[in-house]
Amino acid sequence: MKRVLSVSYGELTLKGANRSRFEDRAIFKVRKSLKNFDIEKIYKEQGKFYIEGNPDNFPAMIEKMKKVFGIVSISPALRVEKTLENVDEAVQLLVKKYPEAKTFKVQAHRTDKSFPMKSPEMNGHLGGVVLKNFPDIKVDVHHPDLIIYVEVKKYIYIYAEKIQGFGGLPVGSGGRGLLLLSGGIDSPVAGYLMAGRGMELGALHFHSYPFTPIRGEDKAKQLASILADYCGPLSFYSINLLPIQKAIRQNCREREMTILSRRFMMRIGEEICKKYSYQAMITGESLGQVASQTVESIGVINHAVNLPILRPLIGMDKRQITEISQDIESYEVSILPYEDCCTVFLPDRPVTKPRLEDILESERKLDIDTLVEQAVENMEITKIQVRE
Ligand code: ATP
Ligand code: MG
Repeated sequence: MKRVLSVSYGELTLKGANRSRFEDRAIFKVRKSLKNFDIEKIYKEQGKFYIEGNPDNFPAMIEKMKKVFGIVSISPALRVEKTLENVDEAVQLLVKKYPEAKTFKVQAHRTDKSFPMKSPEMNGHLGGVVLKNFPDIKVDVHHPDLIIYVEVKKYIYIYAEKIQGFGGLPVGSGGRGLLLLSGGIDSPVAGYLMAGRGMELGALHFHSYPFTPIRGEDKAKQLASILADYCGPLSFYSINLLPIQKAIRQNCREREMTILSRRFMMRIGEEICKKYSYQAMITGESLGQVASQTVESIGVINHAVNLPILRPLIGMDKRQITEISQDIESYEVSILPYEDCCTVFLPDRPVTKPRLEDILESERKLDIDTLVEQAVENMEITKIQVRE
């Protein structure tokens, strides 16, 4: 008998080649998340994978694996060679671990049809074993305190707990996205959600040093490092937007500051995407949340670039977004008070329904290519590692 971790992963609808690619990706990510533990072996068996290691570390390993996208649930399991006596023994061991359980049921599942006992028969037999050895516990097939899962595969696995993981798809299976990461609440949540759909992330941050403090940038880096827990190490691209903001202020209407600087952010983002192979940009915009996030603004912003801009929060309200940010523990950092670049030269009454013609006209007064080029030339890149 051996104690192992049984891991179920991936969305059930995944099929064929996709499924096997996701499996390998999920195992790769799990292996990485467990690099500080001694792992004897990880192997796949019929839709799940299993980890052999030191059972004393299982609780800590489970904590790490819970954050790996693609993992649906994790169960500490007993694994036995395929004989009925072995299962009888394992089931009793398992029940002993839950002395507080008053009711139970057995849920057997036989994928190896060569095993002589069918699932309903096993349920009956193992139920009998429990009743005989534990006089205080009764059967309840509807709402049992304890469900004893028995899976007959190459080995037989017996377990009672399913510890929930984050679900989603393993990072790296869904391409690469460049997250426009401010210091706010929304953008880290947007990055997290796209990582949960399998995207590998990079983070692009704009500051207006010396008008904005270095600590504002540190805060964005801290947020990136929280994201790294979920999406793995990521590149942090840091751009000083101040020269562009100054050029806008000198040449354009004050009310257009926000929309014009947004279009520059996207252009710069697109350059970085081309250079470092990202296929899309990601923002934390949510429709109607602030004056600049109207459908008209979004249209004018999109028009500046050709790459897709993904906005996973577009239909969410602040409460939903805040809840996720608390779950992923970015909230506490996001609410630190440092200013970011958007507060520099902030107009009193920004345009909320910009017209593309007006914006294009204003931009004719700017040397767009040179401004973008210079901003990218002065970019700083930091590698954000996964925290230990
Ligand atoms: P957040 O909470 O993410 O800062 P917000 O509600 O403050 O968003 P805006 O300021 O309109 O909304 O920003 C919308 C989106 O534009 C942000 O979610 C982010 O993706 C991007 N963005 C804004 N400011 C910056 C910045 N300084 N650096 C990088 N991206 C930014
Ligand atoms: Mg913001």
